[in-house]
Amino acid sequence: MKSDLNRNNVTYYQLEKIRQDFPILKKLIHGKPLCYLDNAATTQKPQAVIDALVEYYSSMNANIHRAVHHLSEASTKAFEDSRKKVKNFINAASEKEIIFTRGTTESINLVANTFGRNKLKEGDEIIISGMEHHSNIVPWQFLRDEKNIKLKVIPLNDKGEIIFEEFEKMITGKTKLVSIVYVSNSLGTINPVERIIETAHRNNIPVLVDAAQAIQHLKIDVQKLDCDFLAFSGHKIYGPTGIGILYGKQNILESLPPFLGGGDMISKVTFEETTYNELPYKFEAGTSNIADAIGLGVALDYVSGIGIDAIAAHEAELLKYATERLMEIPGLKIIGQAENKSSVISFVFDNIHPHDVGTFLDFEGVAIRTGHHCTQPVMLRYNIPATSRASFALYNSREEIDILFNGLKKIIEVFS
Ligand code: PMP
Repeated sequence: MKSDLNRNNVTYYQLEKIRQDFPILKKLIHGKPLCYLDNAATTQKPQAVIDALVEYYSSMNANIHRAVHHLSEASTKAFEDSRKKVKNFINAASEKEIIFTRGTTESINLVANTFGRNKLKEGDEIIISGMEHHSNIVPWQFLRDEKNIKLKVIPLNDKGEIIFEEFEKMITGKTKLVSIVYVSNSLGTINPVERIIETAHRNNIPVLVDAAQAIQHLKIDVQKLDCDFLAFSGHKIYGPTGIGILYGKQNILESLPPFLGGGDMISKVTFEETTYNELPYKFEAGTSNIADAIGLGVALDYVSGIGIDAIAAHEAELLKYATERLMEIPGLKIIGQAENKSSVISFVFDNIHPHDVGTFLDFEGVAIRTGHHCTQPVMLRYNIPATSRASFALYNSREEIDILFNGLKKIIEVFS
């Protein structure tokens, strides 16, 4: 599989070589080469990440921050080095602002349970958008029901973009947080988060950015963005599952109570009272997911080695090519036609259910996602039960899009 991308005469995108780094891509599915187009659900892992996990458990495994023995020191150093890599990757001001969590879901729940419970009172308002993943809806509903606050939802236009003027109109003196997805996992829309943050900050409202679908496709600089919180998951950026990040501005994190109570997050405990550890440990109760945190650091090294700009350019080409090809297919409708889109194409047919599409394609070796993609309100908005979704990553090729295209044409023949 070839790529002829040559950006600015600087980066030559070596797709063939990149594909060799991902052992799973050599797999045959039902006798056909795996064509993995379900990257928005989770990405495959390069050998370097797999090796890091094996190496950690083979030669370094020990609990961190607690013992003076050699293995514990080595393991603590590797864990903290990984935190530094995350800090550098998103250009946070300090490692204190990088909290390891289980993933985006836990990161958002952490903010809801600390910032939300501590800073919001009855009658206050939170603004989210109509394209949020359930993990950026349900934690706020818990809070709404507990504190009697109001959840406001920015409506979407027919193309799958937020209606910015509606957002501006929604802001009141009671708005205490805007929590917004950067890139939609079901529509592919890239939201204008810079403008959202600017507008919110003009009104002294902090902003949480759900970057689960952005971190692997776009250059993120949290200081430039000026977001107050940012959440992402390791497994969407070629890292392990079960590990993720909450970035928070230091002054805000300092002002919040802890999320979970237990070991490592304390400074001193008596039966009468407990004082808490400093950042970021205050938010990392119990034994962390050490191996996977280290694996995430290796995944970020891998992405940086290729360059996020080169990856973005490659994926933009794939998206353009896939959109053109899919639009050639009679009866296929793309859901989500925003001007600014990332590596996701959701589509429907009038008379073929997405689950049939997914099952049929599986026999061609093609892995796509079908369903509501944990965004049921998006399905309601466009009056559809589900979509088929192809989503691209750094290792996908134009040839794989042709395989998808040919599979879809076969489906139409069979179903007509
Ligand atoms: N937000 C978005 C936009 C997502 O795509 C996802 C994962 N599909 C999540 C949040 C939740 O991520 P995780 O399940 O890794 O916590």
